[in-house]
Amino acid sequence: MATDNPYRDLPSVDSLLADERVRALSAEYSGDTVIALVREELDSRRAAIAKGGDAPPVNLIVDAIGDRARASLRTTLRPAINATGVIIHTNLGRAPLSEEALAAMTNVARGYSTLEYDLAVGARGTRHAHVEAQICRLTGAEAAIAVNNNAAAVLLALSALAAGREVVISRSQLVEIGGGFRIPDVMKQSGCRLAEVGTTNRTYLRDYEAAIGDETAALMRVHSSNFRVVGFTASVGLDELAALASKRGVGLIDDLGSGCLLDTTQFGLPKEPTPRESLAAGADVALFSGDKLLGGPQAGIVAGTRAAVDKLRRHPLARALRMDKASLAALAATLSHYLKGEAVDKIPVWRMISSPADEIAPRAHAWAYTTGGAVRDGRSLIGGGSLPEEGLPTKLLAISGTDGASVEALARRLRDHETPVIARIEDETLLLDPRTVHPDEDGIVVTALRAALADAR
Ligand SMILES: *Cc1c(COP(=O)(O)O)cnc(C)c1O
Repeated sequence: MATDNPYRDLPSVDSLLADERVRALSAEYSGDTVIALVREELDSRRAAIAKGGDAPPVNLIVDAIGDRARASLRTTLRPAINATGVIIHTNLGRAPLSEEALAAMTNVARGYSTLEYDLAVGARGTRHAHVEAQICRLTGAEAAIAVNNNAAAVLLALSALAAGREVVISRSQLVEIGGGFRIPDVMKQSGCRLAEVGTTNRTYLRDYEAAIGDETAALMRVHSSNFRVVGFTASVGLDELAALASKRGVGLIDDLGSGCLLDTTQFGLPKEPTPRESLAAGADVALFSGDKLLGGPQAGIVAGTRAAVDKLRRHPLARALRMDKASLAALAATLSHYLKGEAVDKIPVWRMISSPADEIAPRAHAWAYTTGGAVRDGRSLIGGGSLPEEGLPTKLLAISGTDGASVEALARRLRDHETPVIARIEDETLLLDPRTVHPDEDGIVVTALRAALADAR
């Protein structure tokens, strides 16, 4: 039946649409989707022929159309279990939310809400009102605004406070945060000019002093959230920067990164700077993330003086960078936990940070009891660019490769589990940390491990 022109051997769109199995797809997919799937499959077959292939039998093409249909419905964004021990894992979605934050999201998303409606006057209100008072109370700020994420907060603050002018920053703080987000690029994007001072390891107050001129709009500090400069170093404290900024009549922008509202030393961690300290020292604005140590939804918070925050609010970018209603509701609920003094009990990030190793050990032993492997000491990491070197003592389940099964193969089988389980590999050993696994998910971890190990045998 094959002709010497393989393109002619391909079935037509109409004949495929008439095929019984293709027609059956209409039960689950719209007619337009089925036509598109058929065309896509034929296009890819033509491309294969162009590379020297033959036209495959019709039943293989029909199978492939079915595969395409299933692939198009498969959601790639789905829940996963974080057994890596990295608490704020950016690739795994950073901070899990509290029950109250989740409820707040569904509540405003299901129907209409007062997102931009002022009930007292029965007219248009502002979405920024929903979190401003809480942020002010928690940070001591006069005013506040929340945007899409902290990268957006940095862009907005620089655009509104310094566009067309100069911002003085230490060379040691011209950092890349991750995912290609580089402070110098953001400064360029915002339309302000960068005045770099000092060196990679040492910057003095006199360096800032010498750089301030008629064109200077502000000094900026960027918290070194994901690295440390150690050894022969010198940097200028925020107090000194604030005194200089005020003496010379320029602004002070402080990018804190994490946005920690609790004292981290109570959990055996080093001190993480807080927005309250930053504003008390004299920063005009403190910028921080909503989904790092704050433990809430993706957001970027700007807390600061009324004058500075008003400029941000009025800037056209504020509209482009605004938060959506569900995230705003979750942020408001998360902030409430701090105001009620229940953050450590209710916010998952803090619950994980504060859970002692002797609560984690029994879970690691219970996992090991059913799956084999050894329980050993290890460290959980804060992650998300917060407190980079520090860890919390923990207990890990450690599984070495068994005959014929490399730890990479085991890790892959865990990822292939219906609810993917993400582990970490160190020195050819698979490590799983109960600290970042919700206790309700222990059963899934054990099932996934047993299946992965059974497959390996
Ligand atoms: C994480 C971080 C950012 C970016 O915050 P996102 O909320 O991820 O956009 C900016 N600056 C610093 C110092 C950070 O640590």
